[in-house]
Amino acid sequence: MDESGPHRASPLPDSSAAPDQDPEWAEYVAWLDRQTAAGRDSVPATRATEAWAPQAPDPDDPDPDDPDPDNLEPYDPEPAFAHGGEADLLPPGPVLAQLTEQAVLGLGRLSDDELIGVLHATRRQVAREEYKQVLVTAEFGRRRQAAFEGAAARGVPAGCRPGGFPGEELAVELATTRIEAGHRIDDALDLTTRLPRTLAGMAAGLVDADRAGWIALYTRSLTPADAAHADEVLAAAAPDLRADQLARKAAALEMKLAPEAVKARREHARQTGQRVEARREVSGNASLAGRELDTADVMASKAHIDALAVRLRNSGLVEGTLDQLRALVMTDLTQGRDPLDRIAPAPSDSAWPSPVSADGPSDPSPVSPNGPSGLSPVPAAGPSAASSAAGSNGQPDQDPNSLASLGFHQRPAGEQDDRSRPGAPVPLPARPGAPVPLPALVNLLIPAGTLLGWSAAPGQAGTWGLLDAGETRAVVTAAAGHPRTRWCVTLTSPDGTALAHGCARGQHPGLLNGLAPQPPPQQLAGLLRRLGLTLTPIAQDPCDHASAEDGYVPSRALRHLVRARTATCDAPGCQAQAVNADIDHTVPWPDGPTDQCNLAPRCRTHHRAKQAPDWKVGQSAPGVTIWTLPSGRTHVTAPTTYDT
Ligand SMILES: [Zn+2]
Ligand SMILES: [Zn+2]
Ligand SMILES: [Zn+2]
Repeated sequence: MDESGPHRASPLPDSSAAPDQDPEWAEYVAWLDRQTAAGRDSVPATRATEAWAPQAPDPDDPDPDDPDPDNLEPYDPEPAFAHGGEADLLPPGPVLAQLTEQAVLGLGRLSDDELIGVLHATRRQVAREEYKQVLVTAEFGRRRQAAFEGAAARGVPAGCRPGGFPGEELAVELATTRIEAGHRIDDALDLTTRLPRTLAGMAAGLVDADRAGWIALYTRSLTPADAAHADEVLAAAAPDLRADQLARKAAALEMKLAPEAVKARREHARQTGQRVEARREVSGNASLAGRELDTADVMASKAHIDALAVRLRNSGLVEGTLDQLRALVMTDLTQGRDPLDRIAPAPSDSAWPSPVSADGPSDPSPVSPNGPSGLSPVPAAGPSAASSAAGSNGQPDQDPNSLASLGFHQRPAGEQDDRSRPGAPVPLPARPGAPVPLPALVNLLIPAGTLLGWSAAPGQAGTWGLLDAGETRAVVTAAAGHPRTRWCVTLTSPDGTALAHGCARGQHPGLLNGLAPQPPPQQLAGLLRRLGLTLTPIAQDPCDHASAEDGYVPSRALRHLVRARTATCDAPGCQAQAVNADIDHTVPWPDGPTDQCNLAPRCRTHHRAKQAPDWKVGQSAPGVTIWTLPSGRTHVTAPTTYDT
């Protein structure tokens, strides 16, 4: 099934093993019977009816003589939710739901004990609802799976089979990522086939979806027999463990039962998932992380960073906590600077040592031959530690972590720092460590109101979201020093949609000289003039086809117009950046024109989903796309609304 393939590779056990009986529900019904027999069966009436609409009978419920919610005795919450009280022990279901609905209407009357009891009760209810979601999701997954496998059996070629994108379809409906939606389908299929104890725990309100998901994940690689064993062990442990504890326990069990599978998954993730991630922090700062790296490599890198940070701290010349110094070392190393230059004696002709002199590589290295590698603790030797960390054990020439091997003093010509040239017009930054020139795609969003002078809304750079004036200036200054920088300016309307777009390229040293941090309109116009930008309008509805082109492949200018209008893949909820997406003809060329009214960015996955027989996509206006999913539900996406 498309990209969820690896997960589906595990043998699906006989689906007849699916529990069609729900022992917990039977228990619950039996409890109701006992309550009725004791003449204290039930619940409320007065205020609860406002908050609780009676439901249609649950088809799962074998008992037609359910208590009538309108005929219930007034509810006295006091004994019910206290520790060990009836409501505290009640399984999830309509009665407990009604009790909690009533309890939240009079929270002030509850003791702390009862308050906690209500909290526990609502958690059982949530787990019960998640159990229903699992049943529904599994049914959905089985239907799509049957359609896909049926088409394959009929000889329908790959790419033309229905049912191939269940995760993508569910992601749209649940407003989540396709990865997450795919996991939910996989989990639901496993829970309803080979994890009956965990599923029963959910039905009883004892295991929530989060915990069940960990159990499903770490049992996926197991044989049916091992999975059954793990299901029993983990379902029993789940209610009393924190989710992260349960995840560790499940991982340890998997490691014991299927070590080869664990190793294969780790290797697969390294092959397919290794990357460097730059992200926005919640605080507004940024983070940089290497993902799915070799453990020994990470330990070696961390040890190297630690050693350099300790050396900076012990010099007494650099301020900051050890954590701050580690971060400083990391940004230095990843921008081609030597952190130890910060504590090297300053050359006589400069206020501080320049990270890269105009003379380049001939600069004598301040790092001794034994350098920081002599300080680096060798990480605990693992199977692969030898290859990545051996050099740190006194063999400077071969040390893969040595500064020289990381490219120090070897910045290619053409990337020299303007600021270090004698007579450079740009003033020296206050300290070594201002960002080096970066070959950026600077995508500046400028509200039309700011340009026209009636708004002071901040600018936005690329995918980084809103930047304050200082940040914008730092990014633009660093980008202006690099010859391969490309400049894109998108002018946005008051509703946040793109109005016009223009592009330029190249180095613009001193671009911001004399411009205030938040440029008033004249200065903003001056900025555009310095960049030599011409703005082209984004097509409105109806399209005037002013930017239509004859060929199949849209020009760079047209692609930029489309991406400025629609900054992400235009599938509902997809956040794939348009710069990484295909520019797709909604109606295939030449029936559909190469123009803003027929082009949209689509990530590779949604591009392929659109071509599947059970997905339909139309564009009713420039940037307005109608997606009809296999279920028949439609979703309309609109041009990007920027947060300006
Ligand atoms: Zn552009
Ligand atoms: Zn058009
Ligand atoms: Zn997409």
